[in-house]
Formats: sequence, structure tokens, C-alpha cells
Amino acid sequence: MSSVHTTRFGECACCGVVGPLTSRGLSRSCHRRYQRVGELGEWPTRDELIEEDIRMVVATGVSYQVVAARCGVAERTVLRVVSRWGAAGWEAAA
Ligand SMILES: [Zn+2]
Repeated sequence: MSSVHTTRFGECACCGVVGPLTSRGLSRSCHRRYQRVGELGEWPTRDELIEEDIRMVVATGVSYQVVAARCGVAERTVLRVVSRWGAAGWEAAA
């Protein structure tokens, strides 16, 4: 299972077909289709989706450990994302 970090299973963000997803939450065939027409940028990357999740949980005012647990990411991932927003964002949420 060396590909566990790169292959997620779920519904394609585009058509809802369940299968292995690419980094943008699209099935491989949809990913290829959007890549071909140059519209891949329309779909958020996995990192952007995680950041959105983190932002929502941070807004509830819990600690970063709880944010990490709820979003299913490492605490250092939460800290990395939050540090990009700047300390003000975290303190406003906390
Ligand atoms: Zn699709």
C-alpha cells in the first residue's frame, strides 16, 4: 500500500462516479478530460480542500489538535496551513 497517500477512493467531484480519485477529487478519466481542455485549474486540489476543512473547524474555536483530529490530518499540517494565514487568523479563530 505504498500509494496510500496519493490514491483516495470516493465520488468524482465532477460526475459522482465512485473510484480512485486524483489530487483534485476527480476520477482519472475526468482529470484527463479537464487537463486536455486546460480547465483543470477549475477544480480545487486536495490541499485546497483540506485547507477549507481546516478553516471551518478552526472557526469553531477548538485547539489545533482537535482541528487535526476532525480533519484527519497531522497536527503539523494544521500548523502549516494556519501559519500561511498569519497569526492573526488563528488568534481571531481561537
Ligand atoms: Zn467525473
